[in-house]
Amino acid sequence: MRVYVATTNFGKLREMESLFAEAGFELASFGDYEDPLEGDVSYADNAALKARALHAQLHRAGRPANVLADDSGLEVYALDRRPGVLTAYYGGADLSWPERRRKLLTEMAEFGGHDRRARFVCALHFIDAQGREFATMGTVDGLIAPEERGELGFSFDSVFLYPPTGLTFAEMAAEEKNRISHRAIAAAALSAAISRAGAGGA
Ligand code: IMP
Repeated sequence: MRVYVATTNFGKLREMESLFAEAGFELASFGDYEDPLEGDVSYADNAALKARALHAQLHRAGRPANVLADDSGLEVYALDRRPGVLTAYYGGADLSWPERRRKLLTEMAEFGGHDRRARFVCALHFIDAQGREFATMGTVDGLIAPEERGELGFSFDSVFLYPPTGLTFAEMAAEEKNRISHRAIAAAALSAAISRAGAGGA
């Protein structure tokens, strides 16, 4: 089935394409979509906000469709779980991703102490063309690496160390990350919920 994704983040879109391929989702973007201003309370609220914004936009354009949104973030224990829900804005809107990663490593060096525990969190929200809504969450535990490692992935992947492999997410092949990531866990739960309910359609 065709599903429009509420994201302007190419890295996420590419990941979601492979995560949902098995469930038979053909992901598409809607050119006019712009992320609504997110709240700072919960991933689930923000994912719902984005999905509902895109659903309404497609409806207004006379193209009711299935939509999917993701809201995710990185929580660092020693930084009181920051940047958390506000990860996309870490360090301000003008910072590049390399600058954001450097800022995080500097903050860890200054305030982190020995506790380098962190986790990625992902909330997914799906609305089918008829308006039925499904929401799931996924998390993955890891450590903030002492320095950046790896060239793959996006955003904070090169500073997120996954202890079972000893590699950062940016050193793990996409298929490997997609077996264990926060987004993969949320995606598996979502596909199961949608297929149980027989939602979606062509
Ligand atoms: P949002 O969901 O658009 O609010 O953005 C979430 C932010 O969390 C992204 O911009 C990334 O910085 C970060 N993030 C979420 N998931 C991942 C991931 O799998 N790898 C690296 N960074 C991620």
